[in-house]
Amino acid sequence: MRKLGMIGGMSWASTVLYYEKINRGVRKALGGRHGAPLLVESLDFEPIANAQSAGDWQGLAGLLSDSARRLEAAGAEGLLICSNTMHKLYPQIADAVEVPVLHIGDVTADAMKREGIARAALLGTRFTMSEGFLRDRLRDHGIELAVPDPERMAEIDRIIFEELVIADVRNESKRTLKTFLTNLAKDGNEAVVLGCTELVLLVNPTSNVLPIFDTTTLHAEAAKDWILAAA
Ligand code: GLU
Repeated sequence: MRKLGMIGGMSWASTVLYYEKINRGVRKALGGRHGAPLLVESLDFEPIANAQSAGDWQGLAGLLSDSARRLEAAGAEGLLICSNTMHKLYPQIADAVEVPVLHIGDVTADAMKREGIARAALLGTRFTMSEGFLRDRLRDHGIELAVPDPERMAEIDRIIFEELVIADVRNESKRTLKTFLTNLAKDGNEAVVLGCTELVLLVNPTSNVLPIFDTTTLHAEAAKDWILAAA
């Protein structure tokens, strides 16, 4: 198996999901007591969220590139950035290391193409929804992502940064997401991309009014396949 390095802690509430999903996937594939060879660098999210809000993306690129280099030096043969938002800095981080960095947008697009889905609504942080770094990557695969209206965007972003990144999972927010998804279906959307790695804490991707593409699950599955590809 190949050893994978995870740049995590963005937030730890989703890194733990990756960790479990990748290990369960490897165990399922290989049986016995197998688990995934992983290196995890779990960063402190408070200064990261503050730097995002302050627009210090250059500082964040340095921080995450240093993390990528440490993981590579420690023996990681490939890397994951365990956050959609931080894929804004994918070019700088990927340039900082020799090893491949599995892009969350590529694996999401691959899954959508397998299901024959070419359009979907995108939910995520305000950065992911309002900027082009993820949507453009999917567009390169022929997939168009639409975003909610500004009021819904603000509420989803608030739920992520005030609740989900500290693993505060509230029934009220589950209901809010359910209403949003119902409205997206009524508005004619074919599918939804959970483009924030914590959103799956509120939404069950397997039973919903619309097909749901959960980036955490898809990224973790791609990571498991990559780890096993050299087994
Ligand atoms: N985990 C998040 C994401 O997938 C949000 C946290 C962050 O801003 O990095 O976008």
